[in-house]
Amino acid sequence: MEEFRKKNELKRRVLVVDDEIINREILRNIISQDYEVYTAEDGEQALAMLSNSHMNFSLCLLDLLMPKMDGFELLERLKENEKLRRIPVIVLTSEKDAEVKAIRMGAADFITKPYIPEVVIARVERIIELSEGQRIISSTERDHLTNLYTKDFFFTYIRQIEEYQSETAIDAVVLNVDHFNLINECYGRKTGEEVLRNTARLIPEVFNDAIEIVCRAEDSVFYIYCKHHDNYEELSAKLQDLLSKQENSPKVRVSLGVYQNVETSVDVETRYDRARTASKQVEGDYTNQIYYYNDELHKKSIYEERLIGDFDESIANKYFKVFYQPKYDISGNEPRLCSAEALIRWNHPELGMISPGEFVPLFERNGLIQKLDRFVWEEAAAQIKTWKETYGKSIPVSVNVSRIDIYDLKLEERLQSLLGNNGLTANELLLEITESAYADDAKRLVEMVNNLRERGFRIEMDDFGSGYSSLNMLASIPVDILKLDMKFVQNMLKDEKSLKLVKLIMDIAGFLNIPVVAEGVEEENQIKLLKEMGCRIIQGYYFSKPVPPEEFVKFIERETERGN
Ligand code: C2E
Ligand code: CA
Ligand code: CA
Repeated sequence: MEEFRKKNELKRRVLVVDDEIINREILRNIISQDYEVYTAEDGEQALAMLSNSHMNFSLCLLDLLMPKMDGFELLERLKENEKLRRIPVIVLTSEKDAEVKAIRMGAADFITKPYIPEVVIARVERIIELSEGQRIISSTERDHLTNLYTKDFFFTYIRQIEEYQSETAIDAVVLNVDHFNLINECYGRKTGEEVLRNTARLIPEVFNDAIEIVCRAEDSVFYIYCKHHDNYEELSAKLQDLLSKQENSPKVRVSLGVYQNVETSVDVETRYDRARTASKQVEGDYTNQIYYYNDELHKKSIYEERLIGDFDESIANKYFKVFYQPKYDISGNEPRLCSAEALIRWNHPELGMISPGEFVPLFERNGLIQKLDRFVWEEAAAQIKTWKETYGKSIPVSVNVSRIDIYDLKLEERLQSLLGNNGLTANELLLEITESAYADDAKRLVEMVNNLRERGFRIEMDDFGSGYSSLNMLASIPVDILKLDMKFVQNMLKDEKSLKLVKLIMDIAGFLNIPVVAEGVEEENQIKLLKEMGCRIIQGYYFSKPVPPEEFVKFIERETERGN
């Protein structure tokens, strides 16, 4: 007896609210083994019981359709009250629409009729566990802007659903509102937020029966957990159409990444990483809107994960090597070695030589590029010092500064101390910044460039002409040297337009007194033409590919022999 009482005391209290006695009793039967069950016949009675702080209910199972005060109203009342809000509510329904509405109103879950005992027990258990374990974060379970779940809660919820529903075929969908930054910029933040709220509201409407749950994972990115289906083209077109038709809404484009028929053994986060990887393939793409996760992408992401995983060890063991490509001054009778560009190479112990084209963009995406660039800068600075000591002259080296480095608040200090540590002047370590970084955040970049120039550093604008920047921006942006994008040089002999553009750029640069470096020069004819147009500095396979430092010294020695 004593034993029984003790057990009973430990049981959590659950309130079942339903106007039909048969339902109350079915539920009582299902859960009374593990819980102390109380019942109420309508919302009013329930509210009184829940408000009694001595009762300390752990959960409320709530029917939606009842006389006096119905379930929706009770939910509303609970939400208004600081204390009552914490009692989790599972709604008892049979209609999809009501579920969605109830969940929006703060219900933690739903159970559909007819009641399957295992499902009821599992959901009750889970929700109590969740509410107790996560009480602290309960206010952050929902995204304030859209009232959808947060990503964390979404993941937890899915795990919970799948505990007793693993046989259903499921798709993981990532939906992105394209060019969201532009919407914000052109129409204002308010409109941007409205677009997100509309999206949150319309996704369940459009996906209708297929949908299970949705969350907002990032600014303009939504994660959808839904039953497997095939008509994503139709759904996204419909959603896009509805979104654009909302009052005062700009035209909205969405892109989707779909990981269909997920393997349920793959953990939830990974599934959405995969769908996200897929969505990124078509983000902002005007011709394609949906990308399905496939084997190729799978291999690619596994390969990329491997590269990321091997990064630290490769830095520590110096599997990364800095190569140097000479730049020649062609203004005199004979070309003269004037400087070099440091270019990174990865000599991976198992994968062999990997080109920066494969890992630089990847490391730019996850920030590792900062560490890599610092490694390159250090190597290059030490190299300049060594050559200076060995040959008694300075070969300035340009290093690449990634768009991510611009946000490093210590960038100037870091570069400055490199100079100090190696006894160099700012003239000897040039900085190449790609043109598209200017477009990312022109203000921040201009500020940084100005600070660096004040310290005496010279800045080369890399890949000039490759992006969106216009010629007239040259006049307003601080830069010391232009590096013409390789494709101009490569097309110059083939098409008239490229040739004309090169001429125009040379003219403007000349007018502004900015020297131009032509890179990617492979043929004698190109050199001749560039020289005629007033270009003095050439980099390209014509002179040499990027080579390891041991090999680069032959260029220095050749100069020395010539008496330069
Ligand atoms: P980039 O800065 O525009 O570098 C020039 C690229 O053109 C180099 O490719 C170089 O090997 C290649 N190149 C030079 N001359 C010729 C030529 O005559 N013909 C052809 N077809 N190509 C030529 P690489 O070394 O594969 O580097 C690719 C890109 O990776 C670089 O473009 C740069 O954006 C990035 N990168 C390389 N090293 C670093 C680094 O240390 N840090 C950062 N952030 N990015 C780097
Ligand atoms: Ca470069
Ligand atoms: Ca370049």
